[in-house]
Amino acid sequence: MSLLSQRQGPALPLPRLEGKEVLVGPDPSIAKVKGVMFGGRKQLLTDVGGDELFYAVLAKLTPRTLQYTRTPLASSWCEFESLIELDKSIYDALRVKHPNVLALIGAASAELGIGKVYKSLDTGELTKFMENIALFHSQYQKFGRVKFEKTANGGRMVYTDYPCYSPIFCASGIGYFLEAILRHGGTDPAVVETKCQTLGDTTCTYDMTWK
Ligand SMILES: [Zn+2]
Repeated sequence: MSLLSQRQGPALPLPRLEGKEVLVGPDPSIAKVKGVMFGGRKQLLTDVGGDELFYAVLAKLTPRTLQYTRTPLASSWCEFESLIELDKSIYDALRVKHPNVLALIGAASAELGIGKVYKSLDTGELTKFMENIALFHSQYQKFGRVKFEKTANGGRMVYTDYPCYSPIFCASGIGYFLEAILRHGGTDPAVVETKCQTLGDTTCTYDMTWK
């Protein structure tokens, strides 16, 4: 279970779901993400509702998305469109009980990718982790670019050049960064997407602070 899902205290803000969605874009061959992202979602579903929930969600998916989700292949390329189809199904299944399930999806991905939990804040490791997200971006997505900037109380992740995007995907990103901060020992993490390509901005910018 992610640290985010176990966290006491103020509820997370609800996801912003308005915004334009482009699922494929002009070049379908680059509208792809790594299969490992499906692995995080499978883990979340079984953590929250066991096999019963997992199979209930699978039953609603189209064949290709079902295959990616049932047996995630970490290093294969999968259509972005399928990832969003899965996330919408998860959101529909869990939104009543977990209005912030999209953030939990991102948190499950970060949990899978980081594993380790630091006892106290290690700013150096956290900064390195964020820099590596930018460095290895092309191993996880075939589209877009990202750069990380350090700020006074945290950092800023700036994504650009997305030919395909969805508010659903951006909402899971918030949970991903919150979990990454928590696992590196950060307390009081705050992550706000201050600009978003689904709203017509040229970037998706996540401003992050931590202590
Ligand atoms: Zn965005």
